[in-house]
Amino acid sequence: MRRILWFRRDLRVLDNRLLSQEGNVLPIFIFDTAILDKLSSNDRRMTFIFNALIRLKEQLKTRGLDLALFYGKPTEVFQWLLSKEYFDEVCASGDYDPYARERDRDVSHLLPFTYLHDTYIFRPDEVLKSDASAYLVFTPYYNRAKSVFRQEHMAESVVASQTLIPFAYHVIHRIEGSTHTDRPISLTSIGFSEQSLTSHQRLLPEEKLNIFAGKLANYSHDRDFMALHATSGLSTDLRFGTLSIRALLRWLAEQKKSGIDTEPFFRQLVFRDFYAMLLYHFPHLVDQNFRYPFRGIENNHYFEAFCTARTGVPIVDAGIRELLESGEMHNRVRMICASFLTKNLLLPWQWGERFFAQHLMDYDASSNILSWQWSAGTGVDPQPYFRIFNPYTQSAKFDKEGDYIKTRLPELSNLPSKLFSDEAALTQNVWETYPQPIVDHKKSSKQALDYFKSVLLT
Ligand code: FAD
Repeated sequence: MRRILWFRRDLRVLDNRLLSQEGNVLPIFIFDTAILDKLSSNDRRMTFIFNALIRLKEQLKTRGLDLALFYGKPTEVFQWLLSKEYFDEVCASGDYDPYARERDRDVSHLLPFTYLHDTYIFRPDEVLKSDASAYLVFTPYYNRAKSVFRQEHMAESVVASQTLIPFAYHVIHRIEGSTHTDRPISLTSIGFSEQSLTSHQRLLPEEKLNIFAGKLANYSHDRDFMALHATSGLSTDLRFGTLSIRALLRWLAEQKKSGIDTEPFFRQLVFRDFYAMLLYHFPHLVDQNFRYPFRGIENNHYFEAFCTARTGVPIVDAGIRELLESGEMHNRVRMICASFLTKNLLLPWQWGERFFAQHLMDYDASSNILSWQWSAGTGVDPQPYFRIFNPYTQSAKFDKEGDYIKTRLPELSNLPSKLFSDEAALTQNVWETYPQPIVDHKKSSKQALDYFKSVLLT
């Protein structure tokens, strides 16, 4: 068997299903221009991916393998490869968003495609209702998932005997149509510049796990408090597969043996599966509402204020600063910002989703889109449109001392923290460096409810 092993969301050697496929192999990674062309040249995710690829290449070499790097459209890369050599099949792990599925379908027309289950705990059709339809609500999905869960879901992949197919592994192969050129292996060869990552982003997933081990016992309580750094910080590793979901589950099982309640963290991992499963079954959710014909009201002035952290609502602006400066944002702050954009500013959720997609290190179509639809009240979640977060009470509850806000908005660091949850005081502010709130929470919430009701009645 001559197999192309196509690495995509599984940039690691440990517990990788691609390495369970025996025979003569050509491991490859494609810098897909359909994705890259939309990114700015200083996109920090490219630095993360590039570093992960260099590490992967080195790790593969220790096993007598290597990684061939390509730059171009996947179908053209495969056409070029097939014009040079014979291959029996391509193997790749699951990637369920609509673009990825279309891309894989196109490639499967060129040569047999073996789809491996690797990225998520469950297959998209593994946790279904008794009538074989998809769950729309998380809790029943979760209960079913727990009853379906077996030891096999965390079993380590076997390592097969593989022989490397000779190839030019020391360059990036740039394919445009049927034209092939070589480039040195560097970020600049593919049009990107190296970005500085945070010290946490530079850690290996095993190092992140070691740190998180000391926090797991309090995860359930602490995870909502943004200044505590109480979560795992593993979403980017799960997104690009620098950590195997099965290895993470085995690690969790070990923690459980020492008496820690691991379920709250397991539940979040299943959430990730739930959203991937939903986008798989309902691909139109990528940009369309599941329920309610709610479109939002386009307002470029509001959107500009949101994207530049100038809304005058400290917890929202602190979140956007965190996003712009590091590519990260705490989960609760994501929820607060998404509610603010869709309910207080009444902007289309798709605008916020695209803005997050542009900046989030861990950007994942299913988690991002479905979370935005959840916040907008347009998604599969039966909780209706009247869920509106009050950013001021959220701030008082989850950042009482204002530590998170002051770190991200140093211009407010000398102010008393109780001010950050006092809308009236913020509205009267006269500081030169920080704006007054652009909307009144009560009024804008009422407007949102009225708007939703009017849309529902038409
Ligand atoms: P932890 O709390 O340590 O959780 C462990 C893992 O579980 C995470 O790494 C993640 O893979 C998964 N997870 C946790 N919470 C959720 C959740 N609510 N939904 C789905 N999976 C979850 N997550 C992404 O990975 N990519 C996105 O693009 C993304 N966009 C989001 C947009 C909005 C508006 C909101 C409200 C949430 C979004 N999330 C997204 C979910 C969540 O915010 C992040 O997964 C989490 O903040 C990552 O931090 P962590 O790894 O420390 O999480």
